[in-house]
Amino acid sequence: MSDTAVTTEQPSRSPLSDEVARRRTFAIISHPDAGKTTLTEKLLLFGGAINLAGQVKAKGERRNTRSDWMKIERERGISVVTSVMTFEFEGLVFNLLDTPGHEDFSEDTYRTLTAVDSAVMVIDAAKGIEARTRKLFEVCRLRDIPIITFINKMDRESRDTFDLMDEIEKTLALDTTPMTWPVGRGRDFIGTYDIRDGGVRLLEGGGAKTGAAQQIEISELGKINANLDMSQITDELELVREACKPFDLEAFREGHLTPVYFGSALRNFGVGDLLEGLGRYAPSPRAQDSNLRKVDAAEPRMSAFVFKIQANMDPNHRDRIAFARLCSGKLSRGMKAKLVRTGKTMPLSSPQFFFAQDRSVADEAFAGDVVGIPNHGSLRIGDTLTEGEDLTFVGVPSFAPEIVRRVRLTDAMKAKKLKEALQQMSEEGVVQVFRPRDGAPALVGVVGPLQLDVLKARLDAEYSLPVEFEVSEFSLARWISSDDKKKLEAFVASNNSGVADDVDGDPVFLAKNEFYLGYTKERAEGIVFSNVKDVK
Ligand code: GDP
Repeated sequence: MSDTAVTTEQPSRSPLSDEVARRRTFAIISHPDAGKTTLTEKLLLFGGAINLAGQVKAKGERRNTRSDWMKIERERGISVVTSVMTFEFEGLVFNLLDTPGHEDFSEDTYRTLTAVDSAVMVIDAAKGIEARTRKLFEVCRLRDIPIITFINKMDRESRDTFDLMDEIEKTLALDTTPMTWPVGRGRDFIGTYDIRDGGVRLLEGGGAKTGAAQQIEISELGKINANLDMSQITDELELVREACKPFDLEAFREGHLTPVYFGSALRNFGVGDLLEGLGRYAPSPRAQDSNLRKVDAAEPRMSAFVFKIQANMDPNHRDRIAFARLCSGKLSRGMKAKLVRTGKTMPLSSPQFFFAQDRSVADEAFAGDVVGIPNHGSLRIGDTLTEGEDLTFVGVPSFAPEIVRRVRLTDAMKAKKLKEALQQMSEEGVVQVFRPRDGAPALVGVVGPLQLDVLKARLDAEYSLPVEFEVSEFSLARWISSDDKKKLEAFVASNNSGVADDVDGDPVFLAKNEFYLGYTKERAEGIVFSNVKDVK
């Protein structure tokens, strides 16, 4: 794919801390159509992808309808659709974790963000911050994940550049530092000015790899394109230097400041700047919080948590793949791990490594990497695996659903079976289940509609339970808690028909709409309403 050196054939045997230090595990957050897929393809091109778990979907395939997706899953058995993409660039190992968008947007998209150390926020230069980007950003903020911004589609008509920066600052409460600045806009976009070293990197049409882009002095720009208003460009750059904050690594790493790059993924421009920025500034695997202590990535003993489960849609093959992010140490094929939730030991006899060109060559992974662990339902989302220590990572929260539906059983005799099946599905993280305290039928909550399709297909295939979903009177769910147990009890008692239990029996307030939620909140003194629930 590329001539970049691929070192996996002679795996590096350097000490663990060196392996950890050269890893960058990140995700891309964006609104559909901002250019995530195009950027991903270009990043992989730069890096000479070592292995794609699945492949980047071909252009024509990208807009698969949901039913197509289900069909594909069925045909392929377990398909690991672009869950992890690993590539090397200049000695660093990049793990790009896929954040499903479009129709496959789901709670997995949010959960994936708990398994990365940084994120690239792709913004369409004509549109600015869009709804989905904002939501995904909020999830990143929960963990103070550092964000690098890529303002894409600079080759098209775009909004005012200062306006875009201002919008990021205001709507996301995030400081910005431009690392590059576009020279010309739209059709006259001819390159980016590097704010640090002062050169202008020229846009050279598609396919330019890093280093291939021609770099010139700003004074020479007039010769390139006579349309450029040189005095305007110099004034603008002057203003950028005066008005914009200098880059502050610490503020970035703490999630308070975002370095901003400009480019065009389609024309492969600015992608090299971005990758270089990721390598230079994004953190290597960070220490992870557990219930007992912080676990440092370079600790020798292996630990990992499960953030995503992909189930086989084929009823004859009930196997699943659990995606686990390594938090410390090294995982080798054949090693035994303790599943802390049950206390049982499980052999990791056939983990899938996404790190080697040829899967059979790789037999180890390091903190920061993601491995796929085949299992038959023993692993759940949020599970911790260790080499014996009884710690649990506080990594993967539940996110308030954006769609709430009532499950209608076509065969009323099977209510008990449905209850069991829903419990299992919610433990696996397929959907969230809420059981109203007043005894009304269960509700399911999801972040994206695909989850409902998956639930329906799995209930049918695995439990012979055909179900339909009905719109319910509720559309929002919030976990409720209080320091004062009596206050919580009083609230539940007076809102009984609007309170349900989640899978763990924790109380959830169900509201008809935002207005009603706001109204209730104002009057519920001492009650905390939360749209995230951390694992305990
Ligand atoms: P995603 O939905 O975020 O994955 O976006 P895609 O990568 O599929 O891009 C959406 C559309 O925008 C496609 O038609 C792309 O060809 C187009 N696109 C992506 N990047 C650029 C860019 O830099 N410039 C222009 N002009 N179009 C782009």
